[in-house]
Amino acid sequence: MKDIFAQGCLYEETLKRFDEAADVLNVHKGVYNVLRHPYREVTVYIPVQMDNGEIKVFIGFRVQHSIARGPAKGGIRYSKEVTLDEVRALAAWMTMKCAIVNIPFGGGKGGVICEPSELSMNELEKVTRRYTASMIEIWGPEVDVPAPDVNTNEQIMAWIMDTYSMHARHTVTSVVTGKPLNLGGSRGRKEATGRGVVIVLEQAAQTFGLPVRGSTAVVQGFGNVGSIAAYLLDQIGCKIIAVSDIFNGIYNENGLNIDDVMKYLKEHKKLEGYPKAAKVSNQELLEISCDFLIPAAVENQITIGNADRIKAKIICEGANGPTTIEADKILNEKGIIVVPDILANAGGVTVSYFEWVQDRQGYFWTEEQVNDALMQILVSSYKEVLAMSKQFNVPLRTASYMLGLERVLECIQTRGIYA
Ligand code: NAD
Repeated sequence: MKDIFAQGCLYEETLKRFDEAADVLNVHKGVYNVLRHPYREVTVYIPVQMDNGEIKVFIGFRVQHSIARGPAKGGIRYSKEVTLDEVRALAAWMTMKCAIVNIPFGGGKGGVICEPSELSMNELEKVTRRYTASMIEIWGPEVDVPAPDVNTNEQIMAWIMDTYSMHARHTVTSVVTGKPLNLGGSRGRKEATGRGVVIVLEQAAQTFGLPVRGSTAVVQGFGNVGSIAAYLLDQIGCKIIAVSDIFNGIYNENGLNIDDVMKYLKEHKKLEGYPKAAKVSNQELLEISCDFLIPAAVENQITIGNADRIKAKIICEGANGPTTIEADKILNEKGIIVVPDILANAGGVTVSYFEWVQDRQGYFWTEEQVNDALMQILVSSYKEVLAMSKQFNVPLRTASYMLGLERVLECIQTRGIYA
């Protein structure tokens, strides 16, 4: 059985990325050492009475990697594969992401070991409410603000908001983001991560002289991030030739009709059997010849085992951690541009920040205001990363970590070490 508490390779890999950026920046070693350790990690055991009367105990985590720049911020993942190590790495990436887009948050992440598709709505609600109740002391608008991630959605965020509010004895909308619109959600939040991926990809394509209109793209993972990115790319004239879900992918070299694929998925719950495309495996999909590859599923998809067979010109990481360090080296040698997760998918947390701001002000923006502000932040963050990359002659990933580290370390240093 997998040790869910073991120190694993994902956080170690994350630290290697941190170390590489810290070396180039030549940072203060003592201050940097603070950031190599999470601020706080909490494990909770979640007893739930299932529909058949049986009592099951689920395990949930929350890691607050850094609060140097503000409240911890980051999503909650429901999956059988969740481990503490994974959550720790995801929390550290959130610290970087929030600093890169320069919003006043630290980094956090949560996870519950469960398979939502095997739970009834009633059981899913009980898991969510009990997990929230167990985290009550360490969540809050000024403390730690969760959001959706893999297998969690607006409904789950609404239950979190309600549970927290019932304990607080008043409605606290700003404790969580990614909520439904009628409960303090923000216009544009659901689409924000996918929209952000497309904004940053367009910037990178422009930098490297590739037109988006008339190009081809492959998207792994057709959930919130992947389906929106595919839809928006399609809208601006990029041909989406393959997409996938956890089971497998569908491929049509003449282009997929994304609206039609979305309708099919809604009806059939999986892409398999879609009639106007050939079936491919998730591994085959990554190796399809295309201009843009958007991994938008889970970690460790582009590895030493397949990196040399990737044919895309630009990889824009919608998912967190889809590329391993060894794979990065191979991609760099092949001249494939990688727009890293901590920049490419930061649109989600940026609009989560807008949601938090709107909730706290009780004043809500139009979708146009949200999308304009998102565009402004992402374009300027991309430019800052690109400038760093040129100045130090490093790939975009190292440059992104450098920008993030610089901002967080400056805050730690200015605040000082309290003793
Ligand atoms: P989601 O649950 O809506 O969709 C995930 C998609 O990936 C689904 O199509 C699923 O079938 C597929 N998938 C799951 N496991 C897979 C596997 N092992 N192999 C291939 N496909 C698999 O999740 P999402 O919110 O779209 O998140 C996708 C990725 O984007 C994650 O890495 C997440 O951390 C990252 N991300 C999400 C947000 C957000 O706002 N939702 C923000 C930033 C980053």
